[in-house]
Amino acid sequence: MSEVPMERIVSLAKRRGFIYPGSEIYGGLSGTWDYGPLGVELKNNVKQLWWRMFVQDRDDMCGLDAAILMNPRAWEASGHVSGFSDPLVECKKCKRRFRADQAGEACPECGGLFGDVRQFNMMFKTQIGATEDESSISYLRPETAGGIFVNFKNIIDSFHPKLPFGIAQIGKAFRNEIAPRDFLFRSREFEQMEIEYFVHPTQWKGSFEMWRENIHSFNEAVGISRESVHELEVADGDRAHYSKRTIDFEFDFPFGRKELYGLAYRTDFDLFAHSAASGVELSYLDDSPEGGGQRFIPHVIEPSFGVDRTILAILASAYREDGADKDVRTYLKFNKAVAPIKAAVFPLLKNKPELVAKAREVYQMLKKSVPQIMWDDNGNIGKRYRRQDEIGTPYCITIDFETLGELPAGGGSASGGKDTVTIRDRDTGEQQRIAVAELLSVVGAQK
Ligand code: ATP
Repeated sequence: MSEVPMERIVSLAKRRGFIYPGSEIYGGLSGTWDYGPLGVELKNNVKQLWWRMFVQDRDDMCGLDAAILMNPRAWEASGHVSGFSDPLVECKKCKRRFRADQAGEACPECGGLFGDVRQFNMMFKTQIGATEDESSISYLRPETAGGIFVNFKNIIDSFHPKLPFGIAQIGKAFRNEIAPRDFLFRSREFEQMEIEYFVHPTQWKGSFEMWRENIHSFNEAVGISRESVHELEVADGDRAHYSKRTIDFEFDFPFGRKELYGLAYRTDFDLFAHSAASGVELSYLDDSPEGGGQRFIPHVIEPSFGVDRTILAILASAYREDGADKDVRTYLKFNKAVAPIKAAVFPLLKNKPELVAKAREVYQMLKKSVPQIMWDDNGNIGKRYRRQDEIGTPYCITIDFETLGELPAGGGSASGGKDTVTIRDRDTGEQQRIAVAELLSVVGAQK
């Protein structure tokens, strides 16, 4: 288990504008979270890195952005209408409801007895259009995968990809979780990054291994260490009915070792089911010399990444406290690639127009190439460092009298430092003087 107390992460995330409780001024809405200015930058960095790594940098992948609302027949075919449920128990005394597999023997609130266990479908139901009858019911998607399967034929028809190939999608998913908990870990509205990787039925093992490795590479790229992620081979009886093999990738969250991502071999279950229910053939024609015109339903490997669980794992991995008592320094040791702000620029004093003008110039120059740059001229330099440390900014750049080629009134040690600045490293706290002309190569580097 991670050593970091969860409350500190939650409070820093709120205080510094990463993540706020949803609808807070109305008392909140359980299972929802709002990403603030820094949170949205962090989240976008994670999604862009994933997209780059798994779609743009590869020749065997294509992207998709399907609608959240789908024809309800798709959710019947995939088994979600009948089977996407968690076991629910209700306390006979206080009527509170719990997930049967997490609740224990008696009501944790009042000690009352539970009634019988029943299945609770986690899909959010909604009405499409103005009529309110059975025919207008639809659902908010509980996973993004569905949109990929229903577009399989479209992508085959417009791109003629050769097996093996994958379709990737990032988007919102909704689950009416019985007990949302543990900050972003279990919410009712969240985001997923999913891939359906289509393979020849005899070739699934190699692709499964490839994605297994890719998951670890992604973790490394976002700053989740290999040691904090553990593979759990899901046993026969515990796997979803369609899966022939599943590995859960678990992370040491502050509240215990829990699922971060999943990797499943889903066979031809989904394409077969959608083909049967829609009456549209969802197969692949292998017209390569070896394939000899064989037509078959591809099998599928599905790596499924939760965006919000990634954000939580990144925050837990990055959180640091240095020093003791009153002098504790809190900082987020983000990878440069995910850090929401790459560098902060300060004029040493905010009441010296020459310093401010020069600092603005440096700030604008950097911002042109690296948009995630912050300006701060509030309070003393020490305080500014602390503020940037807390939000995980890798570099703080200070424009001082040396930058201007001047000595401050009352003397100093400036000597030939014109057009140089101090640049301070977040992790070591060390400062160096470097030329303004070199800044971009340091701040813009990904590692
Ligand atoms: P769990 O067992 O924790 O409920 P699951 O096995 O139902 O998860 P999947 O259906 O495999 O989860 O969903 C794929 C990924 O989506 C998960 O690995 C996780 O990262 C993310 N995810 C699923 N449910 C939630 C949720 N309620 N809140 C945040 N992320 C979620």
